Amino acid sequence: MSKGQLAGKVALITGGTRGIGAAIAKRLASDGANVAITYTHSADAAAALVKAIEKDGGKAIAILADAADADAVRSAVDETFKTFGRLDVLVNNAGTCIPEKVEETSLENFDRVFAINVRGTFVATQAALKHMKSGGRIIMIGSCVGERIMIQGMAPYSATKGAVKMFTQGLARELGARGITVNNVQPGPIDTDLNPAAGEWAVGQKANVPLGRYGTVDDVAALVAFVAGPESSYINGASLTIDGGTNA
Ligand code: NDP
Repeated sequence: MSKGQLAGKVALITGGTRGIGAAIAKRLASDGANVAITYTHSADAAAALVKAIEKDGGKAIAILADAADADAVRSAVDETFKTFGRLDVLVNNAGTCIPEKVEETSLENFDRVFAINVRGTFVATQAALKHMKSGGRIIMIGSCVGERIMIQGMAPYSATKGAVKMFTQGLARELGARGITVNNVQPGPIDTDLNPAAGEWAVGQKANVPLGRYGTVDDVAALVAFVAGPESSYINGASLTIDGGTNA
């Protein structure tokens, strides 16, 4: 049996093939959890991640499930439970951003960002709660722009992350009696495919970070591992910002 603070636990991370989600999956697996990830496009990356976790002695599965497809998300949650026999941690990480000014964007793009970032989070959470027991952890990946926004072109995206923050707080009220905590990890700029540190959007973002640089996916994974673990049991309904001081 694996050792570590999450030994014997099972975690599902939505959107786990790349970026922040992949780092979280690897970190929770190295802490002893059996891990399931979902993905949409990157079947090869998903298979490679499962292999890497298995090579390190862990257990992992990858499930094709678009966060915008409620039935697929529900099936992914149920498959995780069926495969590993329990579900202790849900990390709602799958998310996207379509950077466009409000006057230039379309209703389709607005709906797409809400479908993945907000509706997908709601559906996965509702499905996971059927299986979760006392000690369970629901962890959202929100964003520092869910509280404060300093650049243009992000209004719908930041609205989704504001919604995720308040969903966290409302749900924490409902689940306390079941011994399940709900928290929202809010990264600032983190170097990934979605937000490359060398990209055109990086300059304006970096200018707002007191530390003057992007964070790494491992920075976020370390905080998520803490929130998933036993030492965080009294943190509930919180938005934990990890942004190099962006929102200070
Ligand atoms: P990436 O684009 O680098 O990775 C996204 C991951 O989510 C991939 O594994 C991708 O899978 C998966 N994914 C994308 N769309 C869907 C979907 N519809 N259904 C299921 N899975 C999907 O993003 P990041 O790692 O940067 O972002 C992860 C989360 O962190 C998001 O919620 C984002 O909003 C949030 N965040 C990111 C910040 C940043 O600066 N990077 C800052 C603050 C918050 P596939 O490979 O199959 O497409």
